[in-house]
Amino acid sequence: MVETLKHDVVIVGSGLAGLRAAIEAARASGGKSDIAVVTKVQAMRSHSVSAEGGTAAVLYPELGDSLESHEFDTVKGSDYLADQDAVERFVKAMPGEIYQLDHWGLPWSRKEDGRIAQRWFGGYSYPRATYAEDKVGFFEMQTLYDTATKYDNIHFYQEWFVTSIIAEGGEFRGFTAIEMKTGGFAQILGKAGILATGGSGRLYSFATYGYSSTPDGMATAYRAGIPLKDMEFIQFHPSGLIPSGILITEAVRGEGGVLVNNQGERFMKRYAPNKLDLASRDVVSRAMMTEIEEGRGFKDEATGLDYIHLDFSPIGAEKIKARLTQIREIAIKFRGIDPVEKPLPVKPVCHYVMGGIDTNIDGATKLKGLWAAGEAACVSINGSNRLGANSTAECLVWGKITGAEAAKYAEGKSKPSPTGESAQLEEKRIFDGIFHGKGGTNPYEVRDTIQKEMDKNVFVYRTGEGLGNALRKIRELKAKDFLHCEDKSRVYNTNLSDVLEVESMLTVAEVVIAGALARTESRGAHARRDFPERDDKNWLKHTLAFPGPDGPRLDYSAVTITKYQPAERHY
Ligand SMILES: Cc1cc2nc3c(=O)[nH]c(=O)nc-3n(C[C@H](O)[C@H](O)[C@H](O)COP(=O)(O)OP(=O)(O)OC[C@H]3O[C@@H](n4cnc5c(N)ncnc54)[C@H](O)[C@@H]3O)c2cc1C
Repeated sequence: MVETLKHDVVIVGSGLAGLRAAIEAARASGGKSDIAVVTKVQAMRSHSVSAEGGTAAVLYPELGDSLESHEFDTVKGSDYLADQDAVERFVKAMPGEIYQLDHWGLPWSRKEDGRIAQRWFGGYSYPRATYAEDKVGFFEMQTLYDTATKYDNIHFYQEWFVTSIIAEGGEFRGFTAIEMKTGGFAQILGKAGILATGGSGRLYSFATYGYSSTPDGMATAYRAGIPLKDMEFIQFHPSGLIPSGILITEAVRGEGGVLVNNQGERFMKRYAPNKLDLASRDVVSRAMMTEIEEGRGFKDEATGLDYIHLDFSPIGAEKIKARLTQIREIAIKFRGIDPVEKPLPVKPVCHYVMGGIDTNIDGATKLKGLWAAGEAACVSINGSNRLGANSTAECLVWGKITGAEAAKYAEGKSKPSPTGESAQLEEKRIFDGIFHGKGGTNPYEVRDTIQKEMDKNVFVYRTGEGLGNALRKIRELKAKDFLHCEDKSRVYNTNLSDVLEVESMLTVAEVVIAGALARTESRGAHARRDFPERDDKNWLKHTLAFPGPDGPRLDYSAVTITKYQPAERHY
């Protein structure tokens, strides 16, 4: 049986983007709108909570920083694929968000004079990463969650797994979801909806992400005919801890830490003579992989993984203990190394997805009444390479924008009425098709194979041959009969949610690889060995992937260029 629940605005995701949207929607309506936040994990377990290093904003123009500089750094970092009107709006809105969080109680780290502190981050011309020790995501989430719970008109559905979008007559009507605690199935109807389902980094096994960061939201939108944009651009952060891939924040290099090869050389001087270790992430990750490939890396005997040293000694023990507390704890607990005493073994690791659900500058998708925000969306301010500290910032800005837009849209509409048969069909697909399904292939093997292919062939450097092999492998997996569930209990059936996640991984992996194979150039984080140059004549455009009968159908759209003409990037 399908239960029916109704709200004015239904938000999927309780990370920074979802919570910021919920607060704005609740405020915008003067407390009148009824807002739902649906999340497959407990709200505070969303991946946002693990953001470490900082949130970018221009706070001190009197010290030389400027909105234009933040704008230019972001556009240059994006390798000119960002939409410049969106970047301008973003940069302007950010200082207000930092002070808003301050007023809601966020304990930002402070300078000696009591003002909010900022640190250096990769690719920036000024220190503009606003931080709270090295736990910025935790403090931001705690502040937003606390604030959200003060609104009586925000209703949380925690541990509810959204499976599809309900649309009728070209308009958004709601979502279908499984209540994990009972296994019950519901349609959560709304006048407006927002997808804030985060990134999809768990397409890789060596990733900084929480295990819940699978592309369900993206796949849900894609299945509903909403295109995914620029999905071939995946960010590899230079410092994933060996062997787990846990993130060692860029703030380590922002505070003075350096990368060193097996010759004891600070090699970044050969790749980025000005910015050195604080060049943008795509540049540093490629330099590290080149060092490793040319024999100047180290090898971890236990796992066979290659790595580079991240040396903390220039920072000094006192600063490490005061500003990098979490990183020190992670290094000691997960690697048995105190970075005050010895360098950490690190390697590029999957960290962020530049692409996402295609939206306009207001975060609106092509489906009337549905918005997308945060890492799940592609507005696009990140183009082909995001700068560190810009993502938590983007979640705040477009959380606020989409929350306000959705609330405004909902205001004039009447309460949603029960829909036709789409929720029943979705219930059948999940419970008759998967829960009672009789597949012959183990879905966990499918997941491992996807991750292995992505780690191997869709990594920092790519080739047509490798991408072609990966696409073949993904299509072989698609043909297999893996959609079934061994666990027949309804209560907390994580076997069922795992299978749904694997299905979404397969769908989105195919989009990533097809886009990467088609893009015969190197731009930002997409580095093709067989096409090493950026090709503005043919490829200064966004990729759009639509679902087709034989896999993704690719189309392209123009990049908005206002002030900054594409130029060669040097750091
Ligand atoms: C380790 C780490 C450190 C980082 N550090 C920084 C940093 O210092 N600065 C910075 O700017 N950026 C950083 N980032 C990036 C940034 O944290 C993320 O991009 C951002 O927090 C994403 O937030 P979000 O709100 O879009 O989604 P998330 O926080 O990922 O939340 C996604 C939400 O969607 C929900 N959801 C997903 N699928 C479903 C479904 N099917 N049904 C119901 N709910 C669903 C989840 O339950 C969750 O609540 C870091 C990322 C990582 C992984």
